[in-house]
Amino acid sequence: MAKDKKHFNCSDCGIRNCYRRDRAYPGVCPTGEYADAAEKTVELYQSDGTDGKLARAAAEIEGEYYGRLTRLEETVQFARKIGAVKVGIASCIGLLDEAAVYAKIVETADIETKTVICKVGGIDKSRIGIPEEQKICPGCNESCCNPALQAQILNEWGADLNILIGLCVGHDAIFCRHSQAPAVTLIVKDRVLGHNPAAAIYTAKFYYKRILDVKTFPDKK
Ligand code: SF4
Repeated sequence: MAKDKKHFNCSDCGIRNCYRRDRAYPGVCPTGEYADAAEKTVELYQSDGTDGKLARAAAEIEGEYYGRLTRLEETVQFARKIGAVKVGIASCIGLLDEAAVYAKIVETADIETKTVICKVGGIDKSRIGIPEEQKICPGCNESCCNPALQAQILNEWGADLNILIGLCVGHDAIFCRHSQAPAVTLIVKDRVLGHNPAAAIYTAKFYYKRILDVKTFPDKK
């Protein structure tokens, strides 16, 4: 179904002139609408401040290693490029082994690491209003994830860069809100798809087509 102008998104655009600028922009296009704002972002990315440093490091990594380095390797190069000497690792309890391997890899690049588990603080879920029946193990102490405390500990340690390994949907948002250092995701948790959430999209036209159907999409509430 064709979308009207009001509902047109970049994801509907087949022109994508914003990338190479070798065609005409479509009639509805945020590049045209936000031209002045775009110019202001140039100042931001040219600056010697954090945004400028991060933007240039990210673009250089794309240019130097495009399609050659894994995301894991890119995170190490990124840390080097921004001059990070301390890398914090905010890890899920379920991916602590992976976090330990990752820490070793980062340390081979002469960068100090500190890993903090999501369950740090040991606060039972009942204390934040979660009923027993919503625990994985009702009746047990079941500590909630504590991304604000993970971030605080890494802030106090003086992390120059934080790496997220498997934080839950939402806990990652809290961590990023509290992290003083820039935060980069290495692994996103997907308990069903082996931490590869894109697989649901790749298979949405057939095996996972239930997610495109309002009648079969799980629990709308
Ligand atoms: S910014 Fe404009 S040209 Fe680029 S994808 Fe969006 S609508 Fe298309």
